Amino acid sequence: MAKKDTSDFREHLVNVDKKGKRVWLYPKIITGKFYNWRTWFSRVLLLFLIGGPWLHFQGHPLFLFNVIERKFILFGIPFWPQDLYLIALGLLTFIVFIIAFTAVFGRVFCGWACPQTIFMEMIFRKIETWIEGSPAQQKKLKEQPWDAEKLWKKGLKNTLFWAISFVISNTFLAYIIGSDALVKIITESPSLHIGGLIAIVIFTTVFYLVFARLRELVCIMICPYGRLQGVLMDPKSIVVAYDFNRGEPRGKIQKATSTEAQGDCVDCGLCIDVCPTGIDIRNGTQLECIHCTACIDACDSVMDKIHKPKGLIRYASEEELKGGNKFKISARVIGYAALWAILFTVFVTTVSMRKDLQASLFRGKGSTYTQKSSGEVTNIFEMRVVNKTFHSMKISVAPHNKAQHIKMLTDNLEVKPGEQKTILMLVTMQQSDIHRNSTPFELDITGNGKTVNRVKGTFLGPVYE
Ligand code: SF4
Ligand code: SF4
Repeated sequence: MAKKDTSDFREHLVNVDKKGKRVWLYPKIITGKFYNWRTWFSRVLLLFLIGGPWLHFQGHPLFLFNVIERKFILFGIPFWPQDLYLIALGLLTFIVFIIAFTAVFGRVFCGWACPQTIFMEMIFRKIETWIEGSPAQQKKLKEQPWDAEKLWKKGLKNTLFWAISFVISNTFLAYIIGSDALVKIITESPSLHIGGLIAIVIFTTVFYLVFARLRELVCIMICPYGRLQGVLMDPKSIVVAYDFNRGEPRGKIQKATSTEAQGDCVDCGLCIDVCPTGIDIRNGTQLECIHCTACIDACDSVMDKIHKPKGLIRYASEEELKGGNKFKISARVIGYAALWAILFTVFVTTVSMRKDLQASLFRGKGSTYTQKSSGEVTNIFEMRVVNKTFHSMKISVAPHNKAQHIKMLTDNLEVKPGEQKTILMLVTMQQSDIHRNSTPFELDITGNGKTVNRVKGTFLGPVYE
């Protein structure tokens, strides 16, 4: 491939020409140490990603993100609509973790763990290369007329792209509605699942367009995480970087007799040819760099050939390249880490202290107390309960202090999983036990024979002392 001139990199994106038209990129697949590690890592992640919705624990999905019904399951723990504050707290904890991680390791998530990169580089790009050949052959095929060769190659490639998008779409849907619901959509009559089938077709089309057409535009223009890199990273962040001290002045290998100063970069352009976002990393850290490490492998292979040490392009901080410390944690990172530790502790504590049955006690609307001639005083209470487990719960309520009595005014005391129920009850105290206008009391709640919560209330009654 002809060497690309990237000197105008600040004027326009590399995949958009000066007239604003998309320039199609044909990155070369390069193997090497990092590519092999990424291949194995992506296989493990793909296994988890595709297998995730099928993993069950005690008969329930291990992960579920049902945003439609606001029901979530994380590591087998159910979160119901009433737990949205916990989901928000968990999300905030995760975001702060990503910010702290990015401040230290840059965009390593994008290159190694982002599903977009994994599917694009490890599946779709490989299929494309397998069917259409090298980048030069792909370009030639695109430019040639629609003959038999182009028809079958493009047809086969797009059919496979569509089939894989279909699998991704089903996986995505299984995370939302659960694998059991997905199996029903697949196995039962289509007329029973029109909505589900439309969702599958829409998701498949979106994924197909993402991997067949949008590609690097997702990382460069659409992904909000990518857009945030400029504020998340600083000169101490570890990034994929070109060692300009060692590489410059770049140029073709000179004869041994030459007296001109020369760096290690032989200006072969291989680091640009392999870049999935088409940039020249020798121009410095750029927002388009997804840290895929392809340029590290490419340059290392060149250094091997010219018998120079590897690592002209490597993981390094800007500060390190300028001769500073190899790695130093900045005050900003310490601040992020401390904030993350606090949020994580609060999140874990809140989740672990969450009761199987959430309960709160309220005085009956507009009521105070009723006095009986027998010397008893009664208050009406409303108890709102939410079953946080996967099982139906038959509850019973008893006063902690045996001097008080309860009469349930609601007959059905069964609370279904995730159900929120209001239970009415009459609490009775003897006038002789009332020594203040407002007497605190507690109720013990039992669910399926096990104590699941204790709620506090205040009992109103007249004082005659
Ligand atoms: S510059 Fe290197 S690490 Fe960054 S996206 Fe391009 S090839 Fe990947
Ligand atoms: S691959 Fe290495 S030697 Fe070749 S142009 Fe890039 S930095 Fe220079």
